Amino acid sequence: MVDAISPYVLEDIDNLIGKGELREMKEGGMEYREGQTLLLGAEIETHEEKGCSAHSLCFFPTLKAIKDFSRDMCKHIKNIHLCSSMSRLTGQELFDIVEDHGGTFIPAHAFTPHKGFYGNCCDSLLEIFKPDCFEKIPSIELGLSADSMMASQLSELDGKSFISNSDAHSLIKMGREYNIFSMEAPNFSEVLKALKGIDGRGVKANYGLDPKLGKYHRTYCLVCDRVIGGEPPVLKCPVSERHSVVVGVKDRLDIIRDRSEPEMGLRAPYNYQIPLDFLPGVGPKTIDKLIKHFGSEMKIIHEATFEELAHVVKEEVATNIIRSREGKLNIEVGGGGVYGKIEK
Ligand SMILES: [Zn+2]
Ligand SMILES: [Zn+2]
Repeated sequence: MVDAISPYVLEDIDNLIGKGELREMKEGGMEYREGQTLLLGAEIETHEEKGCSAHSLCFFPTLKAIKDFSRDMCKHIKNIHLCSSMSRLTGQELFDIVEDHGGTFIPAHAFTPHKGFYGNCCDSLLEIFKPDCFEKIPSIELGLSADSMMASQLSELDGKSFISNSDAHSLIKMGREYNIFSMEAPNFSEVLKALKGIDGRGVKANYGLDPKLGKYHRTYCLVCDRVIGGEPPVLKCPVSERHSVVVGVKDRLDIIRDRSEPEMGLRAPYNYQIPLDFLPGVGPKTIDKLIKHFGSEMKIIHEATFEELAHVVKEEVATNIIRSREGKLNIEVGGGGVYGKIEK
């Protein structure tokens, strides 16, 4: 969870502890209703001198640590009650504070043109972080418009794991992107080991959107109101050089990468998945019906057979679900804040 420095959220957490629904675990993290693990964290915006800004995820092992961090951050956030994420700090300054409180620092959606370090602040994270601090960053969050194959074109990330996390601000999107960790037990210290890839723990697989469907995959012209296709890197609009564009993640990576072939080495496989509401002819009613029958969206996307699906929904929809699983649907790429689409 990433809003846990908000005083309101901290109050909720205390209430849940009082009711016995939430309890702190010895190895870090919280257990919710005996079975779900919550890691306490925050997503915070920082600003660099040259005027760009970026988001980072900060996770803490204990409730005390995040409460102390929250208290400290009051000095650097204009109004922590109204909005707990906008700080006046630089990336390095935030890193130092997080480290002082025993937390873990991870650049969020690192490649997006909107508030991602590589997307709009730097060509290398070493421009932002001191080398010894950069070393201590265990992972990079990919964001929906990038995948592991794209990110592994940057050799400076070779020692870091990649994580694919979902949006946490709307219920339907929660848990849509996820990571499979290999670890002994679900708690903070084990997750940290998995992120660092030590003691036999590690990231075993990533599940996320096909980056072509992501909101910032290719460069978008704000005047022509469309994604500009063609060989990357596309940095301006072919109609007029004066048109302002939002540079796509793929286009940006094409400029900052230091190798053109992805170097996956021992990296976990990145598995594409297309959420049901991207499929043509699939509306909220159909999704409801499917989830009621199969139990979860992931079961429908990854496991249900054609026959099982066709039993519940129209054959055409069942066909599209199977074709999306096989990577056989044509995608109109996303950009400029607009998701890609499945061509009909
Ligand atoms: Zn963010
Ligand atoms: Zn244009």
